Amino acid sequence: MFNKRIKIKKLLGGQPSGQQVTVMGWVKSFRNNQFIALNDGSTNSNIQVVTELGKFDEALLRRITISAALKVSGQLVPSLGKGQQMEIKAGEIIILGDSDAEKYPLQPKKHSLEFLREIAHLRFRTNTFGAVFRVRHSLAFAIHQFFNEKGFVYLHTPIITASDAEGAGEMFKVTTLPFDNTPRTADGEVNYKEDFFGRATNLTVSGQLEGELGATGLGEIYTFGPTFRAENSNTPRHLAEFWMIEPEMAFCDLEDNMNLAEEFIKYIIRYAMEHNREDLDFLQQRLMEEEKQLPQDKRSEMNLLSKLEFVLNNAFERITYTEAVDILLLSPPYKKKKFQYEVKWGMDLQSEHERYLVEKHFKKPVIVTDYPAAIKAFYMRQNDDGKTVAAMDILAPGIGEIVGGSQREERLEKLEARMKAMNVPQEELSWYLDTRRFGTVPHAGFGLGFERMVQFVTGMSNIRDVIPFPRTPKNAAF
Ligand code: ATP
Ligand code: MN
Repeated sequence: MFNKRIKIKKLLGGQPSGQQVTVMGWVKSFRNNQFIALNDGSTNSNIQVVTELGKFDEALLRRITISAALKVSGQLVPSLGKGQQMEIKAGEIIILGDSDAEKYPLQPKKHSLEFLREIAHLRFRTNTFGAVFRVRHSLAFAIHQFFNEKGFVYLHTPIITASDAEGAGEMFKVTTLPFDNTPRTADGEVNYKEDFFGRATNLTVSGQLEGELGATGLGEIYTFGPTFRAENSNTPRHLAEFWMIEPEMAFCDLEDNMNLAEEFIKYIIRYAMEHNREDLDFLQQRLMEEEKQLPQDKRSEMNLLSKLEFVLNNAFERITYTEAVDILLLSPPYKKKKFQYEVKWGMDLQSEHERYLVEKHFKKPVIVTDYPAAIKAFYMRQNDDGKTVAAMDILAPGIGEIVGGSQREERLEKLEARMKAMNVPQEELSWYLDTRRFGTVPHAGFGLGFERMVQFVTGMSNIRDVIPFPRTPKNAAF
């Protein structure tokens, strides 16, 4: 058997007592022809491998270059040097893969995140991205664990859909029709009858509508899958392909929904703090270095771990949209005309407004509820005031909107009236309306953008740095 290795994380968690071990990994550095720092991706820490002078061929030593892949067997012993507790006295070194140091794009120095994005295929070998993707993994695992503990069913909603859930965003078309000689109907329209599915289809922007179908039979479900939006927004918070978690609960109102969302967010943050301490310490350090470049007033008031701790230990602020608008109208930036966008009841809150509320006014996550019906989707439950709907958005410091959710309209006539008013075709969504025709129940749910959550926990300021291979306008490399 080839793989009898021990992972470096496990090895570093044990005691060095002269035992024989085998590790495999990539060379981070090789000092004085004697000290190899080896990393295998299981942890940010390297294991030091010592090559006793004279023991190995010059020819072999010359091949121990940065990012070469090695198999090392030897004795694990306490280290005499500073900076590490243990090291491997190399008995055998096998070069698994050479790496030409002259050509290798990653040098042992600081590279900008922008540069690393261009070599996203190699950035997993850096400390920063090792930490980010281990944290991302933990958060994903914690999400499944949270819902599993609560008895939710993981529902796989379709990626190719024929419905535009809610006009949540611009959609990517899915078709097998040719661009030239496109089949046309008599009146010149594209004839989708000849397309693969016999109708127009697109990549999903949200699994919610199908999620509601699941919840109104299974009780409580969640989705966790890729979502696509062809929005041409080049921001540090938008991707064309991102992952969304969408729980949907029968027998649930807006307050239950908010409580679940808050408990959920705290649970997964706590999980990462308990399981990824070393990575988060590293990311905190990284963020501090990065923020040194910024003027004092642009730096975070709290370091990364204190911020996460603070979120765990404090209840999210809950305010209505109307209260939020009132706060904004009385705010210094409004009075000094510092906001770019208008603040007025009935208009959507822009990112600058959301950030003022969470970062300056409340200084913690805020749940904004009861938005004007006119700016929200057709399926949100109409409030008795006739103007607002039972919506809730959760806003997080540094990120803005992280969750969007609502109690759904379960009353058939009200829902139909709303669809008519908003020009949502009822025939096409007849299957959706059936849940209201047969045993309708109060129900609610929300969508959490996974990458925004990963950004929040890792402190990475650009969403392109928390997904392995980002898809953004004019960029689908790798
Ligand atoms: P925004 O106003 O920030 O564009 P949205 O109102 O379009 O968000 P929803 O349709 O409510 O967002 O989607 C639910 C969640 O999905 C959001 O709260 C956010 O966390 C995430 N999200 C939405 N669009 C994107 C995107 N393009 N890239 C990454 N995450 C996104
Ligand atoms: Mn959007």
